[in-house]
Amino acid sequence: MIDQERINEYLKTLQADAENGGYLLNPDREFLEDLAQGLLENTDRYGYQACPCRLANGNMEKDLDIICPCDYRDEDLNDYGACYCALYVNESIANGEQEPEAIPDRRKEVLAKKSDPIKKGAAVSKTAFPVWRCKVCGYLCARKNPPERCPICKAQKERFEEFVF
Ligand code: SF4
Repeated sequence: MIDQERINEYLKTLQADAENGGYLLNPDREFLEDLAQGLLENTDRYGYQACPCRLANGNMEKDLDIICPCDYRDEDLNDYGACYCALYVNESIANGEQEPEAIPDRRKEVLAKKSDPIKKGAAVSKTAFPVWRCKVCGYLCARKNPPERCPICKAQKERFEEFVF
C-alpha cells in the first residue's frame, strides 16, 4: 500500500510535468490518486512506471512502449480526448464539457504486428544511417545510434526506436 503523502508528492510532480509539456491531468482527484497509486506500485514492483491500466511484462525492454507517458498517449488524446487510462485528458474533458469514453488499446494492434513474421521482416532502411524516432515526441534523426537524450522532449535514449520506411 502506498502512503498518502507519497501519492500527494507524486501527483505534484505529475502535475508539474503535465503543465510543462502542455498536457492536462484528469480533474477527478480520487480517480487521479488511484492511478498515481497504480503507477507507484508498478514503479516499486518493476523499477519503472508501467501503465497502471495494462498488464506489464516486467521486462523493461518489452514494456518500453507502456512506460508512462506511453507511446500511445498522444494518438489517444487526439482521437478520444484522453489517454487509455484517462490520466491525461483534453481541455473539454478537463472542463467537464465532454465525458471520457472507452478507448480501445492500441498496444494490442502493435503487438499483433510485431509477432507477424512477414510484416516484421519486410522493412528495410534506405538511408546510410538508421533513422531513430523518439517515441515520446516523434523527433527523427539519422545517425549510427540514438542520442542519449531527445533534444526536443529530453526523453532518454531507451525511448528511441528505429524508424523504418
Ligand atoms: S495510458 Fe495514460 S496512464 Fe497509461 S501509460 Fe499511457 S499516458 Fe500513462
